[in-house]
Amino acid sequence: MKTLRSYLGERWVEGAGAPQTLVDPATEEPLAQVSSDGLDLAAALDHARRKGGPSLRALSFAERGNLLKETAKAIQAHRDELLDLAVANGGNTRSDAKFDIDGAIFTLQTYAEIGSSLGTAKFLVDGEGVQLGRSPRFHGQHINVPRHGVAVQINAFNFPAWGLAEKAASALLAGMPVFSKPATSSAMVAHRLMEILVEKKVLPEGALSLLVGAPRDLPALLGAQDVLAFTGSGDTGTRIRALPNIVRESVRVNVEADSLNAAVLGPDAAPGGDMYETFLKDVLRDMTQKAGQKCTAIRRVLVPQAHAATMREDLAEGLKAVRVGNPALEETRMGPLASGSQLADVREGVAKLGAEGKLAFGNAAPLAGKGFFISPVLMEFAKDALAASVHAREVFGPVASLLAYSGKGSDAAAIVARGNGGLVSSLYSEDAAFLEEVVSGIAPYHGRIFLGHPKIEMSPGPGTVLPQLVHGGPGRAGGGEELGGVRGLAFYMQRVALEGSRPVIQKLVGVQSS
Ligand code: NAP
Repeated sequence: MKTLRSYLGERWVEGAGAPQTLVDPATEEPLAQVSSDGLDLAAALDHARRKGGPSLRALSFAERGNLLKETAKAIQAHRDELLDLAVANGGNTRSDAKFDIDGAIFTLQTYAEIGSSLGTAKFLVDGEGVQLGRSPRFHGQHINVPRHGVAVQINAFNFPAWGLAEKAASALLAGMPVFSKPATSSAMVAHRLMEILVEKKVLPEGALSLLVGAPRDLPALLGAQDVLAFTGSGDTGTRIRALPNIVRESVRVNVEADSLNAAVLGPDAAPGGDMYETFLKDVLRDMTQKAGQKCTAIRRVLVPQAHAATMREDLAEGLKAVRVGNPALEETRMGPLASGSQLADVREGVAKLGAEGKLAFGNAAPLAGKGFFISPVLMEFAKDALAASVHAREVFGPVASLLAYSGKGSDAAAIVARGNGGLVSSLYSEDAAFLEEVVSGIAPYHGRIFLGHPKIEMSPGPGTVLPQLVHGGPGRAGGGEELGGVRGLAFYMQRVALEGSRPVIQKLVGVQSS
């Protein structure tokens, strides 16, 4: 069996303790083992700070962008191999695997272009300079400079390639070295990706490190110039944020956590119409793509009471047609969950929802044979039921809940807001007054609002995170923000105000005096 090694301090190193075993979630066949015990994480972080940081900071944005372009090219050259690994170790269908690997390539390419557009500068000038006193000579200007620490990036199991790439792209372009830690259960893709980049020598020494296996005390080793970008469960995020060194040293932490994303059908979108069909298609895709293990997947399906019964029937019919099975087979539409613990967690979640709602399609019963399979599950809640679980429990699998509402925008907004902060919610309507009411009601609770429309060609739906737009959300979603084009760099940079003589400052930052 393959042993996965970590890439720390510019070498491949192997942990010494009892290994964890990575399996194929469709067959439970062991594929690889990994341990991080005994690895010197403090020395590895220091190496990244001392070697990677200065090398990256010496480069312009265009040059750093070029590194990202080469990174994307290297991954593209090994795309098929990475897709196969995502199928084997992630339980991904080929289409799910493309979502992860192609998403990684696209995000790197997008940030490469941003780098190119920022040109020869090495730091960012933030806004216009301001006159500070009566004399125009007294002047202020904000700039953003790369932090001098290391960017530790901890990822969830569901997107091993995209998770690594989307975080690394922003940090590397900003000028910070990256120390990436994929989730253990699906680490084979991230590990191979790292092997490819090391073989091709794409990045300068110390710019990218990879820790596979348990995180051990990694967050506890960070200091004031370091940053920590975490994606995973809200519980782990909360634990990390409360660590004494994180609090004492004011270590900058970004948390991307759980979310009860809602999709709202407007009262104008009658069954059979194009808007209704678009809504149906997006809900079905989100429930089953990656077996529902997407932080942005639709969990709460809000439909006007008048159309709720029709929607239930249409969703049930669509879900019935989903072929669940070995993701390596072409006819399979939905693969297994990523791990045994994930399956147990989803079953428990469905039972919790079932205490307040009822099953409208499927159940969480075990399927015969090996593998962590489950059929899609649609729950239904009575109109105006004050069910707590549906607004509090994210069931991270192919599970969604149908909620009828009055058809009024204010009611829809109030129900959505009960999720207490989310990554994305989506609205499907052409009624301008309804849209305005719901958007203004739910915008403060979200990082993104998707306005579905049948005329958007090849619409990816709300579940796809695009690098040009911010990803993250308040409250339950962790309060974080990533991506969003050049905005994504801010987390890895220090904003500093320069205050003094106008010509001196303008010369320093390279702004033409007017
Ligand atoms: P998790 O158990 O919190 O693990 C996430 C990552 O944190 C893994 O790499 C894990 O390593 C690591 N980790 C665990 N304990 C840690 C600790 N004490 N210190 C530092 N790192 C630690 O979450 P998960 O089960 O992998 O992911 C599922 C959850 O992630 C879902 O709730 C989902 O909503 C959320 N998610 C959110 C987003 C988003 O963008 N908002 C995206 C994807 C997933 P090991 O694997 O080695 O334990």
